Amino acid sequence: MKYVTITGGVLSGIGKGITAASIGAALQAQGLKIDVLKIDPYLNVDAGTMNPNQHGEVFVTEDGYEADLDLGHYERFLQKNMTHFNNITAGQVYSNVISKERKGEYLGATVQMIPHVTSEIKKRLSELKGDVVIVEIGGTVGDIESEIFLEAIREFSMEKGRENFIFVHVTYIPYLKVTNEFKTKPTQQSIQILRRSGISPDFIVLRGEEKIPKLTVNKVALFGGVGKKAVFGLEDTDNVYSIPKKVHDLGLDKLIMEKLRIRPSKDFSWDYSSSVKDAKVAMIGKYLATDDAYKSVIESVALCGYKKPTMIDSESLESISEEEMDNTLKRYSGIIIPGGFGSRGIEGMIRVIKYAREKDVPLLGLCLGMQLMTIEYVRNVSHLNDANSTEFNPSTPYQIVDIMEEQKRIMKLGGTMRLGAEKIKVFKWSKLYKIYLKENISERHRHRYEVNVNAFENLFRMKEEDPMNRLSVSAMSKFVEAIELPQNKFYMGVQYHPEYASKVSNPHPIFKAFLRESFENARQVV
Ligand code: GLN
Repeated sequence: MKYVTITGGVLSGIGKGITAASIGAALQAQGLKIDVLKIDPYLNVDAGTMNPNQHGEVFVTEDGYEADLDLGHYERFLQKNMTHFNNITAGQVYSNVISKERKGEYLGATVQMIPHVTSEIKKRLSELKGDVVIVEIGGTVGDIESEIFLEAIREFSMEKGRENFIFVHVTYIPYLKVTNEFKTKPTQQSIQILRRSGISPDFIVLRGEEKIPKLTVNKVALFGGVGKKAVFGLEDTDNVYSIPKKVHDLGLDKLIMEKLRIRPSKDFSWDYSSSVKDAKVAMIGKYLATDDAYKSVIESVALCGYKKPTMIDSESLESISEEEMDNTLKRYSGIIIPGGFGSRGIEGMIRVIKYAREKDVPLLGLCLGMQLMTIEYVRNVSHLNDANSTEFNPSTPYQIVDIMEEQKRIMKLGGTMRLGAEKIKVFKWSKLYKIYLKENISERHRHRYEVNVNAFENLFRMKEEDPMNRLSVSAMSKFVEAIELPQNKFYMGVQYHPEYASKVSNPHPIFKAFLRESFENARQVV
């Protein structure tokens, strides 16, 4: 087996994940079987308890693993589903080592970083299968947490044969406007740090906002101890899905294959949507510190060939007048209410939902969004004032959204939600059915609360014959999975997360339908 290891230098957040996914996609596009391991050096067991404002979205795999958002890049670029095997964290490694020690599995040895922790990491590395395994080490070289992973991978490369390993170092080249210079010093230093771990890079990928000149590339090659042909400039692009093609055009994939002595089994082919139509979509969110907090939703829109949604802070809409609300929202032809937790910003989202329902603006509610669409309808159409979710108001007189029965006994936060893919039945008479064109679907979940359909049965339209002035339930599992108002252009909420399922050349059909409707609507607004 062959391995391509990706390390990062200088800064985090420079697109190491996208670079790794693009290298994987370029190799896969030539017939190679690719597997992936994302290593996260943080001590959390998984990303489930991390704040999206700091760390970006939590990505959920079909098998119910709460991962770092990089697993989402891999799914979208490689067009295949990941599992918990594709991610390890330092938290998992240490807790396995400690529980082995408690079971006496180390036979009285003094348990140490080397060899016990490194062995645990190497065991996880050897579980992956493919022609080429892409191993991405999170963070930047020099971080205390990642040292042990670099050591483990160095040992692993010696055991498996260095000739079966490629090390790609992805770094950042800052540009100084005042002196009109591209600076290579941080990159040189990060390569030195990598070397100190016993790893010499085979290839260096330079990231930057501007086109990086040949002179700079050559300087990095000289100081980095690699040939000029081994340094690649991957500057920012408007469409990240063009990068696998760029990797191929630059010849990085070819050099990797030559060095690993493997051959492509077919000609390179890579298809992605390069159009960027403007459907004038707004997303009413509450985690606005980074765009990464809603990564999969934003990418689902992009993969359908539309401009990314404009983010609006739901909290800022809570106390404005009706007129200001109209002024803010009338520019948009479609609205997304994404997932989230806790009561902050909720009332702002509910106001937007009322607006969209009354003005017939296409509306897509995801998870929390669907729960709030239900609350809004029950409050304003069924006149049960103060209806709420017990998540936001435990003493609401109308618990229209309530904690799932099986969640009541759970006392810990980590990894305990309803997680992963589950089977759902779509009702044949619904508008949702027209999107899926099948009754049996499977979608991914991440929630603790559910729409309390049993206690408020006569508020919902559960069968085609039920009165049209009720909120239609369009899909069910054991729980309400989707709601809609068929009389509106597009008014759908789903308890699951379609955004996690979008792939390059195959975005989720709900997003396609929503954007098509918003785009139609947009032309009328202008
Ligand atoms: N907070 C809600 C729940 O736990 C919604 C979760 C979400 O949007 N992912 O059910």
